[in-house]
Amino acid sequence: MSCVGLLCAALGSDRNGRSLFFLEGVMDRNARQRAVYRSRKAAGVCTICGRPLGKSGRLCKTCALNKRDSAKVSYERALESKRCTRCGAPLGATDSTMCAACCQHIKDLASVRYELRKQHGVCVICGKRRAETGRSCCERCLAKKRARYHGGNYGEL
Ligand SMILES: [Zn+2]
Ligand SMILES: [Zn+2]
Ligand SMILES: [Zn+2]
Repeated sequence: MSCVGLLCAALGSDRNGRSLFFLEGVMDRNARQRAVYRSRKAAGVCTICGRPLGKSGRLCKTCALNKRDSAKVSYERALESKRCTRCGAPLGATDSTMCAACCQHIKDLASVRYELRKQHGVCVICGKRRAETGRSCCERCLAKKRARYHGGNYGEL
């Protein structure tokens, strides 16, 4: 190592003058971001940009849309390259959009959620309203189910 190199090392920067402490800077920034996130969440504003919340209740309208779009893009990319849309594992020759492990995980989650909702007398379909007495879902979901059954209307539900 040359003298210059040694000097640089002693000063905490590499030969190009970049600070070797840049990692600390990154960590600082993460901590700051977390603090910002927490304060925004406490203030009830969008945790990404700090604007008033939109309908989703967690992000403002713009950020919610952006997030949805990027989720859609990564989903489509995974589909195109035949990868699991949840974990990105290669899928091989299958028509499924998720790998076996993810499929199982989703199934488990769904059945746990179903049981929980049933236990609490909450609609097992939407989970938002109370289930009708003697039924596993709410009045509205029942009506939807009926409409689908009778009218064969798969459109706007
Ligand atoms: Zn926002
Ligand atoms: Zn997967
Ligand atoms: Zn419902």
